[in-house]
Amino acid sequence: MKLLRLGDQGSAVAEVRATLTYLGFLPATPRQGGEPGDSPAGPSAEEQTPDRFDRDLDLALRAFQQSRGLSVDGILGPDTARALEEARHNLGDRLLYLSATHPFVGDDVAALQERLFNMGFDVGRTDGIFGPRTESAVRDFQRNRGLEPDGRCGPRTLRELKRLRRTVTGGRPDVLRESVRILARGTSLLGVVVALDPGHGGDDPGIVSNGLCERDLMADLAARLSDRLIDSGLESQLIHGPEESPTEAERAARANAMEADILISLHADGSSSQHAQGVSAYYYGNARGSSAMGERFAQLVQREIVSRTDMQDCRTHPKVWDLLRRTRMPAVRLDLGYLTNHHDARALGSTEFRAAVAEAVLAATQRLFLPPEMDAPTGQLHVPRVAGRT
Ligand SMILES: [Zn+2]
Repeated sequence: MKLLRLGDQGSAVAEVRATLTYLGFLPATPRQGGEPGDSPAGPSAEEQTPDRFDRDLDLALRAFQQSRGLSVDGILGPDTARALEEARHNLGDRLLYLSATHPFVGDDVAALQERLFNMGFDVGRTDGIFGPRTESAVRDFQRNRGLEPDGRCGPRTLRELKRLRRTVTGGRPDVLRESVRILARGTSLLGVVVALDPGHGGDDPGIVSNGLCERDLMADLAARLSDRLIDSGLESQLIHGPEESPTEAERAARANAMEADILISLHADGSSSQHAQGVSAYYYGNARGSSAMGERFAQLVQREIVSRTDMQDCRTHPKVWDLLRRTRMPAVRLDLGYLTNHHDARALGSTEFRAAVAEAVLAATQRLFLPPEMDAPTGQLHVPRVAGRT
């Protein structure tokens, strides 16, 4: 192919301009010269014609190259052309399937992988390439939704993905309850593995205030919670012992290795203002979407805790923190009040409060995995105690 660069002219240039405009790297209407943001070097009153490779187009192409991790040279060569082509694809534009000879590559594949990942399916890396793992994730999704598991992302699969996405972002709890993982799990708590992550540990005490230490309080809470979960027929495992404080990524890796069904990370908060108080729950998510199960679980836990204690409700929030991002199961981080606040510190310091939080988390876990009609009777299932629990 012929390389295109500043100064070139022709219909190929007009096409690049149209693509970069479509992708948002150029304003939809041509700018007039002299606006803020123009290159300070040289006059910017160039007459703009779509088929001329002008300075605006050069800057836009460089911005695009930077956003894609390409070498930023302002030259349209094979790599940049391919990246532009990939970026044009929106999910739904074309049928996606596993092709042995010419794998589908593009932003639509990346969007598909991201959605499946957010719903708990194993897509491997979100690399924008439709490979065998993406195909098997599509099959899993289709099976879960009662579609024919042909591994092809066509109109029906897309419709189901979009329908679920609305429920994910809409946050209606009764619809979220249908979330794929729950359907896959069935109606039994047998074998549900809960990974517990007491915040901090070892040399890292976390927040220390009002005579209390976050690390020690959370270790106590994790032990109580673990006992209650096991009493109720679930499996429970601690991510780490009191003597060590793994990194967020390491904690996530351990939960993944345990093949836990959910992860609960336990923290208290601190603030320079002693008025800051309350309980909040965090799940994986950002503006592009969130973990349906994570959000659902965060809401359940938050509701149970607030209704069982007199803690202020600081609500649930999506975050992209490493622990939440790297875990393959729904993960929730709880910030159980401010040790820097007198009210919250008094609560956290009492064993009654920590016992109440353990009950609240247990209730929320059961509600997450059991359908509504089986919600009420708790503690009726029995599995052997898990060996090797710390
Ligand atoms: Zn903490």
